[in-house]
Amino acid sequence: MSEPSRGQQGVIRRLRAPLRGIGARLFLFMLGTSLVVSTAFAAIEAWAGYRGQLAQLDREVEQLGRATLEPIALSLWNYDDAQLRLQLDAIRQRPFIASVEVRELAADGSDGTVRARLGEHAAGESRTERLPLHYRRDGEDALLGSLLLELDIGAVQAEARDRALGILFTQAGITLLISLVLLLVVRQIVTRHLSALARAAERFDLRDESSSFRVRAPAAGGGDEIDRVMDALETMRSSLRSAYRDLAEANTKLQADIAARLRAEAAADHLANHDALTNLPNRRLLFQRLSHELAVAERSGTHGAMLFIDLDHFKTLNDARGHSIGDAVLIEVARRLRSQLREVDLVARLGGDEFVAVLPMLGELRERAAANARIAAEKLRLALAEPIVVRDEVFRLSASIGVALFPDEHGTPENLIKYADTAMYQAKTEGRNTIHFFERGLLEAMEERHALETDLRHALSEGGLDMAYQPLVDAHGGVRGAEALVRWTHPVRGPVSPAQFIPLCEESGLIIELGDWVLRTVLGQIRAWREAGLLGPQQYVSVNISPRQFRAPDFEDKLIKALHAFEVPPSMLVLEITEGVVLGDIDTAIERMKSLRSRGVRFYIDDFGTGYSSMAYLKRLPADGLKIDKAFVRDLGTDANDAAIVDAILAMGRHFGLTVVAEGVETEDQARYLITRNCALLQGYHLGRPTDATRFATSFLRQGTLA
Ligand code: C2E
Ligand code: MG
Ligand code: MG
Repeated sequence: MSEPSRGQQGVIRRLRAPLRGIGARLFLFMLGTSLVVSTAFAAIEAWAGYRGQLAQLDREVEQLGRATLEPIALSLWNYDDAQLRLQLDAIRQRPFIASVEVRELAADGSDGTVRARLGEHAAGESRTERLPLHYRRDGEDALLGSLLLELDIGAVQAEARDRALGILFTQAGITLLISLVLLLVVRQIVTRHLSALARAAERFDLRDESSSFRVRAPAAGGGDEIDRVMDALETMRSSLRSAYRDLAEANTKLQADIAARLRAEAAADHLANHDALTNLPNRRLLFQRLSHELAVAERSGTHGAMLFIDLDHFKTLNDARGHSIGDAVLIEVARRLRSQLREVDLVARLGGDEFVAVLPMLGELRERAAANARIAAEKLRLALAEPIVVRDEVFRLSASIGVALFPDEHGTPENLIKYADTAMYQAKTEGRNTIHFFERGLLEAMEERHALETDLRHALSEGGLDMAYQPLVDAHGGVRGAEALVRWTHPVRGPVSPAQFIPLCEESGLIIELGDWVLRTVLGQIRAWREAGLLGPQQYVSVNISPRQFRAPDFEDKLIKALHAFEVPPSMLVLEITEGVVLGDIDTAIERMKSLRSRGVRFYIDDFGTGYSSMAYLKRLPADGLKIDKAFVRDLGTDANDAAIVDAILAMGRHFGLTVVAEGVETEDQARYLITRNCALLQGYHLGRPTDATRFATSFLRQGTLA
């Protein structure tokens, strides 16, 4: 059974009140006490009365004896029975005499016959008094018989009892009356106020300003105890109220503090687990969730996929257009990724332009999961390829996506990210804007690349790199200059092609350091050749500048300073750039080219015809020359298409007033073909292989026609 509520308890108390109330208890106490006292008093009264009566009876018997014995003895002597009866009747009239009789003395001295008798035997207790009847005559005393008085003791007792009861009832009546009056008085001056106080206390509510313990006006002629209780309760109420107000105030403050702290904690927690820019989960949260997803996948036997998403050429855009544009693009990318995926999928930003999507529960069969992962990745790729508009400017991005399925035998979260990253890297080398699934072989390749990069870094700082120079020859066989090509001989692997390690440097950023080294070395070489009179002012050395190097904010500054430092006229330096330079942000690239050209530095577009070569670019780029890629030159004699492309490039160059250089000229036929079509300069094994500076000087510069 449940405990009665506070309200119910009040009701129960009130129901018991008539019996439990102070008035009632006082009443019962008085009644009880006076009843006990009255009863005792009545009993004593009765006992004393009874004893008194008995004594009185004894005295009466004695008196009776003195007054009546002689006349009765005379009547007995005279045989005057009538007189005897009269005498006995007179005795019998007296109180408490039940019966009276006269017996004659028998001859043997014992009680003889009854001469007269009056009255009945007492119904209750009785006592018989025997009084001797003597007859005196002439100085002689004769015992005639005895007078037997039967005393009615029961009647004496009854009378005493009746008196006692009378006393008792009177006392009880008076007590009852006084008690009742007292009850009313107590109720009037005490208990009704106490009850009112109790009700006030029951109703008392700290929040209620109007609740009060002033249940009555102060008693006339100074405060009584009730007034003192009321005052005390009022004082208590007001101090409780002020304590309550303080407490409520403190509580409100505390609540606010707690809420603020909770908010701060939630915010800190969010901050610790989310990327501030995109509000996506960060690496930390990714690892947490990933461990969980891997465990679930393992247990449930379903497969999922991790997608590693890297934006293509984002760094170019960020460097060229500033971080605020970059940030806006990243926010939009994050939004697109999130909007393309399911609720259960997790999209996180690892940093920079790297995002990760974890897609759990793609299927129970690995093949099915792979197919679903490809569909999802394709969706993301397409979503990211849509133009992004930032501040009314349209940007076209693409993404390379690597996919790794899980669970995997070595599938720790770290490994899984490495796998997806590796696959992404492969997607990049496959020409970007593609999706690649992770295969075990990839990882080894990646590790190999990594090792190569470490060795290259080492070579760069330890002087393990060299420059080779390849002659650039005009239609008359005159050496007009050289292309500087970097060379690296690996201590174990032997010579490593720049075609292999330059892209590696591009990716890692090492290209900046390497590019600086190349520029310094080449400029130093130009100065040396000039000072030795081997290189004239009409000749030049062309240096390959990779896109990332060109886009570096301080590139122009560094170049100008280096030209000054090595006292090389800018006209003796040609920068070979590829169309990759302008990808992302053509305007800034054009600005930079214009600025450098105004100082006399020339630009040739390298590998022309392979990349995105578009007429639009060509028209806008302030270039001085073109280099026809060796791929078109190689099949000049055999492939009509290549011949047509070469012809078109030559025509284009003429049209825009550009110097055209043909690379990879390996045969006499190729050279003749190009010369007859007015190709300004030739470069290739047929005219001279790249070689070190000393040999280049002896082989080409001493004999070269100094213009
Ligand atoms: P590239 O600028 O197109 O350089 C021409 C490449 O063609 C050189 O390869 C050269 O050795 C090769 N070559 C020259 N004549 C012939 C020929 O007749 N037949 C064939 N098959 N090839 C010929 P290399 O030295 O391996 O360089 C490859 C690429 O590496 C270069 O292509 C250039 O893009 C890059 N590279 C080389 N050195 C540097 C450098 O110092 N800085 C930068 N950023 N890139 C460099
Ligand atoms: Mg080149
Ligand atoms: Mg080239």
